[in-house]
Amino acid sequence: MSEEIRNENGELEVKPQESKNFIEREIDKDLKEGVYDHVHTRFPPEPNGYLHIGHAKSIILNSGIAKEYGGKFNLRFDDTNPMKEKTEFVDAIKRDVEWLGAEFENRVFFASDYFDVMYEKAVLLINKGLAFVDDLTAEQITEYRGDFTTPGKESPNRNRSIEENLKLFRDMKDGKYADGTLTLRAKIDMASPNLNMRDPIIYRVAHMHHHNTGDKWCIYPMYDFAHPIEDAVEGITHSICTLEFEDHRPLYDWVVKHCDFENPPRQIEFAKLYLTNVVTGKRYIKKLVEDGVVDGWDDPRLVTIAALRRRGYTPDSIRTFVELSGISKANSSSDYSLLEYCIREDLKLKDKRMMAVIDPVKLIIDNYPEGQTEMLEVPNNLENDELGSRQVPFSRELYIERDDFMIDPPKKYKRLYVGNEVRLMSAYFVKAESYETDAEGNVTVVHCTYDPETKSGSGFTGRKVKGTIHWVNAPTAGQVTVRLYEQLIDEEKGKLNDDGTLNFNPNSLVTVTNCMVEPELMDVKPYDSFQFVRNGFFCVDSKDSTEGHPVFNRVVGLKSSFKLPEQGK
Ligand code: ATP
Ligand code: MG
Repeated sequence: MSEEIRNENGELEVKPQESKNFIEREIDKDLKEGVYDHVHTRFPPEPNGYLHIGHAKSIILNSGIAKEYGGKFNLRFDDTNPMKEKTEFVDAIKRDVEWLGAEFENRVFFASDYFDVMYEKAVLLINKGLAFVDDLTAEQITEYRGDFTTPGKESPNRNRSIEENLKLFRDMKDGKYADGTLTLRAKIDMASPNLNMRDPIIYRVAHMHHHNTGDKWCIYPMYDFAHPIEDAVEGITHSICTLEFEDHRPLYDWVVKHCDFENPPRQIEFAKLYLTNVVTGKRYIKKLVEDGVVDGWDDPRLVTIAALRRRGYTPDSIRTFVELSGISKANSSSDYSLLEYCIREDLKLKDKRMMAVIDPVKLIIDNYPEGQTEMLEVPNNLENDELGSRQVPFSRELYIERDDFMIDPPKKYKRLYVGNEVRLMSAYFVKAESYETDAEGNVTVVHCTYDPETKSGSGFTGRKVKGTIHWVNAPTAGQVTVRLYEQLIDEEKGKLNDDGTLNFNPNSLVTVTNCMVEPELMDVKPYDSFQFVRNGFFCVDSKDSTEGHPVFNRVVGLKSSFKLPEQGK
């Protein structure tokens, strides 16, 4: 982006400008016009489930803006609905927000701490003649509301006296009315084209126990009344939320105005993040967890923040993803492969590149001295010298990948087949001589010979080979479990089945229990991540790994799905 300006001599100059998103431009305008002299944002999750990648976008956006403008950022639990909330979720949310690197310091708040303020503000509205107690049933209220084409009809209780309203509201609070009997409604405009402004309910009777306030309250505020008050009480300047609240903004503004808040907050909406091939939406994820389709809220196939962390995603990769997917006013879906691209880019230079054989077959080097083991120096990451190198044992018996040897290779196959020579990565050239099979014809052992002259790093230039394969020394190999993932939902075939259920991909999880790895991979801790050469990036599972038996989750494969498939396979 650029801006055209005239310099002192009156000449036109083009000045490059940082590209800001539309929210930042609105904030700049507010600061310039003196509407606010600082910036204060918040992230207001309802503690009724785990956070997902969409919430990550909101967290990164809100905390990022606070940081950029030298302002503050609050984490506020929107716990005004006692029905669905659990402390398990409060703890999980805190952990996830912290993990993403959002700095809220000690600024953690609970909306339920403001129930007294909300009650007082409701009384204030009654005193101003702007709220009334109604005894219409829920069905009647809906019927009276009208719709987009029919104006609403005023409730017969709309003109109750202030005294009567005050008394009834107090009685509601004191438990004199049963659930679903009376409501408190804002008195706004039953003819408004915006249905949210047609005398919305702001309090309901609900005899429910609340995790924070216990049995103190038997009336609870509605979201549209509670949320603007929460923002205002905390001194939030910019209340950034998603598009579905756009139609609620006039009500938000009405509440903060008539509740007499000085310097009231301002709501700005942006489009939700949607991702292809995955389930976002707390309700849907919750159902997968409750139906046992996945192994808990942090099943690595989900896109909850806890699942992404367990899978091996990093906060940096998620931040890059959020940046690249952009902030917009228009709904759209981001491609899952963009998220994969971001983690691949993040780990590419950070992770050591190790050798692990996922589908092992024995390779015996017939002319290598029996009983001898040598240590070979293997660079940890050819693209990043800072990661140094390691010593890897090598001997007569190794494991290689089953698909790195073929009995009847196609024309362009460059790896092992009888008579062909390849390089064993960081070791020697080997030439396949023969093979053994089991009763079903599966290859069990490949026999080869090696050429001692061809040792890696020896400067050998005598001849060249076309293929390089990885290997693991058999006598010292560790056996680990690896989990290979595909998308949980197969969108290619349509997200939903004919009966409306989700179209699950039956291959979303493949567990391999006999993956052979080099010794260093046995000495790992949860969340350590590595590149397994040719097989992808893998992260040590934090739940299922046990002493001496790590479980590795594949974070992502090496190749971008945007690229053409490898030739010769
Ligand atoms: P869900 O739609 O998954 O049920 P929610 O909106 O009910 O989520 P809340 O806990 O109410 O979940 O959301 C907290 C904040 O996160 C809200 O400000 C909401 O706008 C924002 N948010 C929720 N989903 C997304 C998303 N997909 N993209 C961006 N922000 C989101
Ligand atoms: Mg919600």
